[in-house]
Amino acid sequence: MAVRKLTVAGAAVMLAACSSPGGSTPVGSATASGPTPVPAQPVATTAAPARPATFEEWVADFRVEALAAGISAATFDAAFAGLTPNPQVIENDNFQPEFSRPVWEYLDNAISDARVSGGQQRLQQHASLLSSVERQYGVDPRIIVAIWGLESGYGGNVGSFDVIRSLATLAYQGRRSQAFREFLLQALQILDRGDISRSRMVGSWAGAMGQTQFMPGSYLNYAIDFDNDGRRDLWDSLADVFGSTGNYLANADWRPGETWGTEVVLPAGFDYRETGLEVRRSTAQWDAAGIRSASGGPLPATSGQASVIIPAGHRGPAFLVYDNFRSILRYNNATSYALAVSLLSDRFAGGGRLVAAWPRDQQQLSRQDRIDLQTLLTARGYDTQGIDGIIGPNSRQAVRAFQEEIGAPPDGYPTMELLNQLRRL
Ligand code: CA
Repeated sequence: MAVRKLTVAGAAVMLAACSSPGGSTPVGSATASGPTPVPAQPVATTAAPARPATFEEWVADFRVEALAAGISAATFDAAFAGLTPNPQVIENDNFQPEFSRPVWEYLDNAISDARVSGGQQRLQQHASLLSSVERQYGVDPRIIVAIWGLESGYGGNVGSFDVIRSLATLAYQGRRSQAFREFLLQALQILDRGDISRSRMVGSWAGAMGQTQFMPGSYLNYAIDFDNDGRRDLWDSLADVFGSTGNYLANADWRPGETWGTEVVLPAGFDYRETGLEVRRSTAQWDAAGIRSASGGPLPATSGQASVIIPAGHRGPAFLVYDNFRSILRYNNATSYALAVSLLSDRFAGGGRLVAAWPRDQQQLSRQDRIDLQTLLTARGYDTQGIDGIIGPNSRQAVRAFQEEIGAPPDGYPTMELLNQLRRL
């Protein structure tokens, strides 16, 4: 979902719910712009509570806004003819998995042998087109093909939801209605421009579109008519799909000729407070700190900075990730997604197999466990900034502080063992 994912509820949750960056988590627009401020409404203290608008009333109201924003009446009326809200979309929007998927399970599925061989075959088949995209945007063809594979299985599954219906449903009654109102306006602009016909505008339940799953805002801003036929078609033109994906990453500060990063081995006694995307250092500094490439060679070169991440805590593999990894995160803001794209792209070239093992015996926390963890940490004075069962940066920081208190490696990774220690206190 280039451009498209919402940073909603934590990467694991979103990944479970959707397939793509733009896909399940609308990429970009929502992520980049952050929470949409809700305008203050005058409060009429004496009036009876307002009756919620029916969908028809809501459409009539939205039509005024859309036409004022420049959408043609013909486009609007054709788009909304006979439209009703889609209950399945609301169900997906409200879905909260009991367990979030461990990163290794996600990666096993994302980097299947079939996906690796499928990508290798397509790299050959479309070599010439991918080279021209690389010349134009500087992005490695293997990264573009990896994103394409993860987002839609190389075009095999672009989603079958009517995008206008999904977006209208989420704008009318979803949890992030203001953001989706904006996405809906953007989708109408795409129709108005004639990039795609109303009937062919299908996508994910959350409105991510085409073979690399662009959310409407990303589509408007970064989709490219790479085959020069006058339309930007991310459904049926591979040139447009590859060109747009390259253009998106180029705009996300992709560094041509550089890698995403590499698996590393941390030295004995490494300070785990140095892990996480917030800590950025040069590769020379990491080298001086004793970080070594897991494959044994020197750390790959970068003109930018690097961070150490340990997606499954100190018992699992460690990675040194570069600015290009952050570019992939701007496509879909989930570490497991960016890691899947990165490792899949390496697999295409015969690499990408990890030296360290994932801690597959590590028991996953249920939603109730995560709520208990947040509750107990907060009660102990380590504020998780809310108790929602979603382990975000604030919760990880609280975990880390508690780990320091008890003398455990401060990796910020919540385990059942840690939760049980808290419960006993
Ligand atoms: Ca085109």
